[in-house]
Amino acid sequence: MKLITRHTRAPRSGAFIRCPYCQNVSLVRHFSWSALACDHCSESVPKDRWGYCDRSEVNPVDILRLGSPVTLRDGDEWASWIPAGDCVISLYGTGGKERSRNRMEDRIQISLEVALRQVQTHLEYGWKMDVRGKGVI
Ligand SMILES: [Zn+2]
Repeated sequence: MKLITRHTRAPRSGAFIRCPYCQNVSLVRHFSWSALACDHCSESVPKDRWGYCDRSEVNPVDILRLGSPVTLRDGDEWASWIPAGDCVISLYGTGGKERSRNRMEDRIQISLEVALRQVQTHLEYGWKMDVRGKGVI
């Protein structure tokens, strides 16, 4: 895990930072702050004490719960969950890897609670995070 410096920038889908006190992960959209209170333990943590987490180091359920999109894949099949206000857009499809044609098969709006359960279930069935992470469409 890297520490955050003045050169650290957040990607558009947000950056994940780990609290040095409680080890919980938070999502930030930018780094123009010098200290931030942890959402979980309320400690005020200076910027250079937070750890910067790569998306691959964060549980996909937590990524979605924190408000960032998640894509899971099982071979040719993929599923994306994109937070949209109070609900989540759930997308399913096939392809999109290397040169295979990307096809979206369904797109529905569901509650965050249902989306979190779906991500958990897919993980239990062995689906893996697509580290591009922003949805494959
Ligand atoms: Zn904390």
